[in-house]
Amino acid sequence: MRVSVVFLLLCSSLAWGRSIPPTPFGLENKQSLPDSRTIGAYLTTLDTLSTRAKRVTLGTSAGGRPIQALLLSASPSFLRDFAGEPDKPTVMMLGSQHGNEPSGAEALQQLARELVTGEHSELLRRLNLVLVVLANPDGRDLSSRHNANDDNTNIDYVALQAGETRLLVEALHRFDPDVVFDAHESGIWKRVLTREQGWMTDVEAQFDMGNNPNIDGALRHYTEATLLPALIARVSAAGLAAVRYRGEITSLEQAVSRGGLGITNLRNYAAMQGRVSILVENRLDNKSGTYATPRNIAERVRKQHLSMLTMLQLVADDAEPLLAVSRPARRQWQSAGADGRTLWMGVNFGTNREQPEVMLPLARFVDGYKEEHRFRNRDAIVTREPVTLAAAYAVTRERERMARWLTRHHIAFETVAEPRHLTADRLEITGVRPQSKIRPGVREKLQAEVAVKRVAVTLRRGDVLVPMDQPLAPLAALMLDPRSANALYQEEDWNWLQPGEFPVFPVVEY
Ligand SMILES: [Zn+2]
Repeated sequence: MRVSVVFLLLCSSLAWGRSIPPTPFGLENKQSLPDSRTIGAYLTTLDTLSTRAKRVTLGTSAGGRPIQALLLSASPSFLRDFAGEPDKPTVMMLGSQHGNEPSGAEALQQLARELVTGEHSELLRRLNLVLVVLANPDGRDLSSRHNANDDNTNIDYVALQAGETRLLVEALHRFDPDVVFDAHESGIWKRVLTREQGWMTDVEAQFDMGNNPNIDGALRHYTEATLLPALIARVSAAGLAAVRYRGEITSLEQAVSRGGLGITNLRNYAAMQGRVSILVENRLDNKSGTYATPRNIAERVRKQHLSMLTMLQLVADDAEPLLAVSRPARRQWQSAGADGRTLWMGVNFGTNREQPEVMLPLARFVDGYKEEHRFRNRDAIVTREPVTLAAAYAVTRERERMARWLTRHHIAFETVAEPRHLTADRLEITGVRPQSKIRPGVREKLQAEVAVKRVAVTLRRGDVLVPMDQPLAPLAALMLDPRSANALYQEEDWNWLQPGEFPVFPVVEY
């Protein structure tokens, strides 16, 4: 009896496996990339053929193309209601948010196929997955980094200008992942470093994390001290030279640091929401090389797939400590500061005094000769302007517009129904100056000089109060406070930083 049951199970799983067609990219012998419609059709096929897969449409791109997620789970309740489970991390993975970095979307389809055919079977027992296979379908079809409106959605997480960013923020809210993994590729050919100086960077996989110092202290510490080093070690052990991301290296003379600290990108935004957030930059080979497939795409997809699979295995193995930091961080943020309520309005990189220089591998363009080069190391994170999280923020200008923006972020607020007296810190902007640019191409920021004065104020009917006793409070404060390096007012359409009394301010007591 037992033997026949096993035999039947074996037969059914073989038949099941055989009935799942290869990915479109695999079918084309990895010589050409499928368009967004073909990828969408493949996700529908997986949904139809497997009880463990469900395709969900998240919304539509600027160019009118559907953006889809493929849910993979052994739990029917997750597929039906998107309900997370107490002992299983929910992991969201995004591919090809930049349209000219196609490997992510292909690696995710391959991974999805393997999982529904029963490979890596422990992963679906231990994880619930949300794969946003092709996060930027316009970019894929138009061979562009951006969407059809030329928005770079990856720096839009504060303003939420682009529909794509808004629907991904909606997806974060709906699926509430413990882990967000954002897959990118980095070109190794640079104008100065390569054309003028003759070198290319020589790494296969670079990983970074949500590294803004205002991220929940325990979550950030776990990611920095445990998860990220383990991921780099495992990917390296699997044969792919992996290092921590040092930012873009464009010339021999520059200093290196880490990926940016701003919450305008998904990596830091998701971490500020209390999620473990990891980014991979796999190597995007040079156009002029000779490869078995166009621009080495088969090999690039292999590297991205290996990075993703290793990440999932690590999260499954480390589920318990990971959940022990991610779930509390989403219920109640605790600052890394001693009081648990400190936010740093100013954050930037500074010289790492313990390790002022680092050696990084480069390859010479003409002959591929490899050499370690010395770079100044500015990866220390400097915090300025500590502020204790207020009781609330009051908004007294463009209140309806601000309410719509808060709703998009899922930040709770209250509209004042009748005049209300309270104690607040009035913020008087005494000067605005451009912050010194880190390097060309990085967007210009303004630094507001602010005088703070405790006063009694009366809010009018229709003013907006954003309470700071909610899980998204630190994220809201960093976007609302004009002193913050990541304030909303750094964004193009919110140009509010001018001398005078500022219309958004912290409330001490209400
Ligand atoms: Zn990218």
